[in-house]
Amino acid sequence: MSIFRNLWSRRFEISEKRMEICMKCEHYNEKLHQCKECGCFMEAKTLFASVECPVGKWGPVELNSDGELQELKDGRTTGQD
Ligand code: SF4
Repeated sequence: MSIFRNLWSRRFEISEKRMEICMKCEHYNEKLHQCKECGCFMEAKTLFASVECPVGKWGPVELNSDGELQELKDGRTTGQD
């Protein structure tokens, strides 16, 4: 199974962790579930592994060699792209 498929299969786990941060954020619009900084609807955006928070509260994730999710805080990927 490819790394991308593995990440997609874990999209809800990734999203849940990010949403915990967003729901406590001063830029989060609870009524619309939307980020006031990027304008994105966060329940959708957070499903995609390669995206990041516009103010750096969370970043893109990849799988490390042990198959664990690893956040890339500086926004760079590790040579997969
Ligand atoms: S994406 Fe970042 S700035 Fe936007 S609501 Fe989430 S944590 Fe806040």
